[in-house]
Amino acid sequence: MVDRLKIAIIGGGWAGLAAAVTLADAGRAVTLFESAQQLGGRARSVDWAGLTIDNGQHLMAGAYRQTLALMTRLGTLDLLERHRIDLRAPGFRLALPRLPAPFHLAAGLLTARGLTWADKLAAARFMRALQRRHFKLDSDRSAALLLAEYRQPLRLIERLWRPICVAALNTPLTMASAQVFCNVLRDTLAGARDASDMLFNRAAMGRLVPEAGQRYLTERGSTVRLSSRVNGLTLEAGRFKLLGPEYSADRVIIASHPAQVSGLLAGIDGTEAVTARLRQFTWQPIFTLWLHFAAPLRFPYPMLALGHGAAPWAFERSDLAPGLVAIVISAEGPHLNQEPERLRDDLLHKLAIELGPLPALLASKVIIDRRATFASVANLIRPDHATPTAGLYLAGDYTAGDYPATLEGAVRSGVRCAQLILGEA
Ligand SMILES: Cc1cc2nc3c(=O)[nH]c(=O)nc-3n(C[C@H](O)[C@H](O)[C@H](O)COP(=O)(O)OP(=O)(O)OC[C@H]3O[C@@H](n4cnc5c(N)ncnc54)[C@H](O)[C@@H]3O)c2cc1C
Repeated sequence: MVDRLKIAIIGGGWAGLAAAVTLADAGRAVTLFESAQQLGGRARSVDWAGLTIDNGQHLMAGAYRQTLALMTRLGTLDLLERHRIDLRAPGFRLALPRLPAPFHLAAGLLTARGLTWADKLAAARFMRALQRRHFKLDSDRSAALLLAEYRQPLRLIERLWRPICVAALNTPLTMASAQVFCNVLRDTLAGARDASDMLFNRAAMGRLVPEAGQRYLTERGSTVRLSSRVNGLTLEAGRFKLLGPEYSADRVIIASHPAQVSGLLAGIDGTEAVTARLRQFTWQPIFTLWLHFAAPLRFPYPMLALGHGAAPWAFERSDLAPGLVAIVISAEGPHLNQEPERLRDDLLHKLAIELGPLPALLASKVIIDRRATFASVANLIRPDHATPTAGLYLAGDYTAGDYPATLEGAVRSGVRCAQLILGEA
């Protein structure tokens, strides 16, 4: 029965693509509707005066198991470069050596630069305490409160904990969910040796999953409809009607940005509880500055913090073009109110302090995504993949899961929705 169903997927970001590929692998053709002219959503390629860049710099981890599995199926895994974690900031370095967990963390802390012995002991005690409780808290609160409860020194917070929290959760420490922060620590600093590796994309985001995904789907009989916005949904005699493209389907996976889900659910009775949950979501921005220099820059590691706390991170991206660098500032902050040229000059100055005199700057471009991710705040209840309406599913980085808004969260949700459809009697 399931193999004769018409399945529609609304949204061709990484969640929608993961769902479509999983269904295609099981022999089910789908029709995927994407409102933009290209696939990829918040992790896509962008044209910049003849160069192909990313909409925003992304970073992945070895713990991104399902993303790596998806890229393996699509044949694009070799576009990622794998490195051991090596966090570098002015006067600070924490590198985890190639030892089995947890010895890599102990050795990393022992040899860390820019922390006092008291800081190192406090960090080790904190991680040990979290490990003993399997990184599960009895109740959620802000990450800042959790660190205060464990008496973490200010220098340690500013050099280690805040940078990890803001980069991973894209949410300020005072708002960020302590439980989600613990989940990230579990899979990075305390993760298995390969789970804590950092994976850098060595090609534009569009090549990792979106373009290969589109080819993979069309070769297997699925249909990808670009520039096809779905304006709403209705349910008539057990079948879903997609408004806009005028298409009927037996099963629908909504894989749009969370801010657009309520509008799509408005015509479906019984989904009010889901919509109420989505009203609790708020958004956090990500700022990316692309710099094109006349010559390549020498980075000691592909990623460098240009300060402490919620400081910017610089990424070497000569894979896209010689001399290309991306500087990212996660989450909300005063930088968003700064005059763009002054902010750029300030970031160039910080980069020069770390790398020495810079080559001539040919061009620069700022991309700000104001709804880059949902704010990963304490006690946020995320919607399940199955909705109260039979046959209607939700995929996306915001759905039930223990990761913040990430590519891995998106991919996992898509795979889960596909499995739920395949598992129907
Ligand atoms: C600048 C930036 C940097 C990031 N950095 C990282 C990082 O370093 N590491 C990491 O893991 N994650 C990072 N993320 C988060 C990651 O990109 C997202 O979690 C992930 O891409 C979300 O995928 P998604 O499929 O859930 O949603 P989306 O990517 O939002 O996909 C939704 C798709 O649905 C389409 N759509 C919406 N409405 C409709 C409609 N009505 N009809 C048809 N189509 C529709 C949209 O056009 C879009 O293509 C970053 C995000 C941004 C923006």
